Amino acid sequence: MKGRSYGGLDTFRLIAALMVISIHTGLVSLETNWGDTVLCGILARVAVPFFLMTTGFFTLRQGGNWTRAWRKTALLYVIAIVLYLPLNFYTGYFAEPDFVRRGFLDLLFEGTFYHLWYFPAVLLALPVVAVLLKHLKPSVVIVICIPFYLAGLLGDSYYGLTALSPELTRIYDGYFAIFEYTRNGLFYAPLFLSLGALCASRPEPKHPGRRTAALLGALVLLLGEGISLHLAGWPRHDSMYLALPLVSYLLFRLLCVCRAQAKPVLREMSGVVYIIHPMMIVAVRGIAGILGLDWLLVNCLPIHFFSVSVLSLAVAGAFVLLARRIRRPPPTVGLRAWREIDLQALRQNAKVLQSWLPQGAKLMAVLKAEAYGHGMEATVRTLADSGVDAFAVATLEEGIALRRIDGTAFILILGYTDPSAAPYLKRYHLTQTVFDAEYAAALSRAAKGVRVHLKIDTGMHRLGFSPDDPDALIPLFADPNLKIDGMFTHFCVADSKRESDIEFTEQQRAAFEGLVEFLRARGLNVGKLHLQSSYGLLNYPQIPCDYVRVGIALYGAADPAKNERAKELRPVLALRARVVTLHSLGAGETAGYDRAFLAQNPCRLATVSIGYADGVPRNLAETGAYVLICGQRAPVVGLVCMDQMLVDVSRIETVEQGMDVTLIGRDGGEEITCVQFSEWCGTIPNEILSRLGPRLSLLY
Ligand SMILES: *Cc1c(COP(=O)(O)O)cnc(C)c1O
Repeated sequence: MKGRSYGGLDTFRLIAALMVISIHTGLVSLETNWGDTVLCGILARVAVPFFLMTTGFFTLRQGGNWTRAWRKTALLYVIAIVLYLPLNFYTGYFAEPDFVRRGFLDLLFEGTFYHLWYFPAVLLALPVVAVLLKHLKPSVVIVICIPFYLAGLLGDSYYGLTALSPELTRIYDGYFAIFEYTRNGLFYAPLFLSLGALCASRPEPKHPGRRTAALLGALVLLLGEGISLHLAGWPRHDSMYLALPLVSYLLFRLLCVCRAQAKPVLREMSGVVYIIHPMMIVAVRGIAGILGLDWLLVNCLPIHFFSVSVLSLAVAGAFVLLARRIRRPPPTVGLRAWREIDLQALRQNAKVLQSWLPQGAKLMAVLKAEAYGHGMEATVRTLADSGVDAFAVATLEEGIALRRIDGTAFILILGYTDPSAAPYLKRYHLTQTVFDAEYAAALSRAAKGVRVHLKIDTGMHRLGFSPDDPDALIPLFADPNLKIDGMFTHFCVADSKRESDIEFTEQQRAAFEGLVEFLRARGLNVGKLHLQSSYGLLNYPQIPCDYVRVGIALYGAADPAKNERAKELRPVLALRARVVTLHSLGAGETAGYDRAFLAQNPCRLATVSIGYADGVPRNLAETGAYVLICGQRAPVVGLVCMDQMLVDVSRIETVEQGMDVTLIGRDGGEEITCVQFSEWCGTIPNEILSRLGPRLSLLY
C-alpha cells in the first residue's frame, strides 16, 4: 500500500516526449514516408494530448489550484523563450520584414519556436477551463469544448472537407491569414485539459483487461481514420483527429491503473526533453557537419532520431539531477510537526490595526505565551520593524526574555509578579500591573521607584481596584516608591453583539472614565490610559485612549462572525504534520484507543505525526473535524493520541507516506482557519494558539 502512486503516468511522460521528438525528426526514412505518416503523423499525436491531460488531472487531484498551474507554465514558457533566442537569431527570425507583428502573434498564440506553441496554448486554455470547472461538472465542460475541437479539425486533418465549401474556405482562409494552426488554446487544448480533469474526478477503472481491449479498438479507429484522411489528401496539418480524444482518454485511464512508485525524475526529465529537443536536433546536425557524418547522423532517420533522443535524454537527465542537488531542500525536511509563521502577514496585520486605532492611540502588542504560540523573538522583531514599541506580557520571565530582545520598548506585565522580584522589575525596566492596595504596599516595600500601571476592575471581577471606592486610590499616588505611569481596565464582553453586552461594555467604559475624571479633578496625573483588547478595538474603535492592547487580531485569528473587519487580517500561523503511514481497514474493524473508531465500510486510514502533547485536543474527532492532505479534506477519526492521530483518507487517492498534513492553514483550494479549528475544539483561537506544544518546530 505504501508509496503507491502514478508511476505509470510518470513513465509514459518520457515516452510521450520521445514521440514528440519523432514528430520533429522523422523515424523511418526520407524516401517512402508512409511509415512516418503512420508512426509520427498519426500514432505519436497522442503525446501532446497526454501532456495536456496530465496537467488537468494533477491540478484537480492536488486541490484545484489552477492559478499555480498557470504560473508554472508561464515561468517555463519565459525560460524556453529566452533559451531559444540565440536560435531565433541564427535562423533570421528578427530579420524578417513583419517580425513585430509576427513576433507578437507568436508570443501570444503560436510560440516563438516551432514546438513552443504548447505553452501559449496551455496559458490560454487553463483560465477558461478553470472557470468552467468551477461552475460545471467535467463532463459538461467537455461537451462545451467539443464544438471547438470540431471547428479546429476543419482547419487541421479535415481541411479537405472545408475546401469543398467556398464559404467555409473563405472563413478558414481568413483565419489562416492571421494564425498558422487551429491546434491552439482555443480549439485544441481545452478539450484535453478537461478530459484530464474528468479522469481526476472518476474512481480508478475496474477492469483493466476490458480497458486494454477498448484502447486497442480505439487505436485501430485512429489508424483507419488517419490513413484514410492522408490517402484522400485532406490534412492541412495532422495533429487532430476525431478518434484522438477517445484514444487519449482510454490510454490515460489505463495508465492511471499502473500504480507504481512515483518517478519524479522521469516526470521532470520529460518536460526538459520537450523544451530542449529542437536544440539537440541543431546540435546533432552541427556535430554531423563537423565530423562529415551527415549521411549517417542526419540522413539516416532512425539513427538521426536515436542520436537526438539520446542527446536530449542525457542533457535532460544531467540537468534534472544537477538541479535536484543544488535545489535547497524545503525547510520542512525532516520535521515531524511544525508551525509555519508568515511574518509578512504579521507585518501587514500590524499596519492594518494601526490604521484602525483611535486618534493619538498606539498599538500595545500582546505577546503572552510565546506570542500566542508564534515565537517571541521573531514576533517582537517583526513588530518592532513595523513601528510597534509597546508590548504586554503575562509574567516576569516573559518580560525579561522580551527585554533581552528589545532594549528600549515599553513592556507591561499584565499578571502577578511576586513582590520579592521587584528588583528585577527595575533592572529590566518592566512596568508592573498593580491591582489592589495590599499588593501595591508589598511592591513599594520591596523596591524603590518601580513603574506601575493601575488596573481597574470595571466588571470582570478578576483583577483590579473597584471604581466604587475612588478614594482608596489616592494614597497610591502619594507613595514615593511607586511611579504610576498609567491606568487601565479590561472588557469582558467586547466581542459580543448582544444588546445587553453592549450596554455592559458601555457601563464598564463609563465607570473607568468616571474614575479618571475623579482623579484628574484632584490634580493627580493618571498617565497613559488603555481599555480595549482586540474585539474592543474592532467593536468600539471610537473610545479615546493612549494604547490598545491587541493580541488575537494581530495574529489574524479574530472571528469574522464577531466583527466583519476581521476578514481584512491575514492568518499568521499554519499548523502542519506528516503522513506517517497508511493502512486499510475492513468493515467492522476498529482503530485507536478505546476502539473509538469503528469502520462502517472498508476504508483507508493515515497515521499523522501530531498529538495532544502538541496541543491538538484528544476528542477532536467528535465534532466533525478534518485535516487537509493534497488539498482535500480527510476526517479525523478515533481519539487523538499523545503524539499521533488518525485520519480517514479513503477518498484521497494521491496520498503518500511523508506528505504534508494541514491542521490549520491553507492547502490548495482548501483552508482551515484557526477559528474553525477552535470551534471543533469547543473553544476560541486564543486557547488553541497559546497551548500549542513547545516541541512543535517553528518555521518563518
Ligand atoms: C490577553 C490580554 C489581552 C489581549 O487580548 P486579545 O483578545 O487577544 O486581543 C488584552 N488585555 C489583557 C489584560 C489581556 O490579558
